[in-house]
Amino acid sequence: MIKAITFDLDDTLWDVWPVVERAERLLHDWLGSRYPRIPERFTPLELRDLSAEIAAARPEIAHDRTRLRKDALQLAAARAGYREFDVEAAFEVFYVARNAVELFEEVRPALERLARRYTLASLSNGNADVRLIGLDDVFSFSLNAIEAGAAKPEPPMFELACRRLEARPEQIVHVGDDPEHDVRGAANAGFRTVWLNRSGRDWPGGRRADAEIGDLAELEAVLAVWEGFFT
Ligand SMILES: [Mg+2]
Repeated sequence: MIKAITFDLDDTLWDVWPVVERAERLLHDWLGSRYPRIPERFTPLELRDLSAEIAAARPEIAHDRTRLRKDALQLAAARAGYREFDVEAAFEVFYVARNAVELFEEVRPALERLARRYTLASLSNGNADVRLIGLDDVFSFSLNAIEAGAAKPEPPMFELACRRLEARPEQIVHVGDDPEHDVRGAANAGFRTVWLNRSGRDWPGGRRADAEIGDLAELEAVLAVWEGFFT
């Protein structure tokens, strides 16, 4: 008996990189108007690299992408010689644009159909806001790495999802694009796993997902087979 389905967000329900790159460009432009020495000194990519440097130096906050972005901006401001810097305003520029995602075409209709039958939740390593994106009506709740205290594939987010769903792991199906974070992480937590492979990639190796789909419209057929086996 399947009670719930959890979904990854970035690259599962929308293409994330075009949105992140646009958000980084908009932030860069905003910095240019308020703190011009920062974009003179750092390209958008170099600002992103600063986040990665901080993550490498401080593994205890590496799962918190909001914190990493803010700390990187603070560091860039300091290196550019600004003693006063409104990090919250800068992050807000990035964050609003980061949430201006375009759902893959089949996503909303598929989630609406699934939500009639199952409890749905989202489990993301990123800092997307499903309320801003307009998906809070289909998800009962959304967890991210910041709330869980660890990113997928580590167990805490999956364990927290089980508790919130009041379900056993084998009653939950996790759907995601990332073989490591989503498939291996969820399988280790005892969830059933569905690999969403939109671009026809080869499986990278290791234990395969319980099912593979090319888009979310294919998920119902997979669930129907599994429910058939277990009813
Ligand atoms: Mg993903």
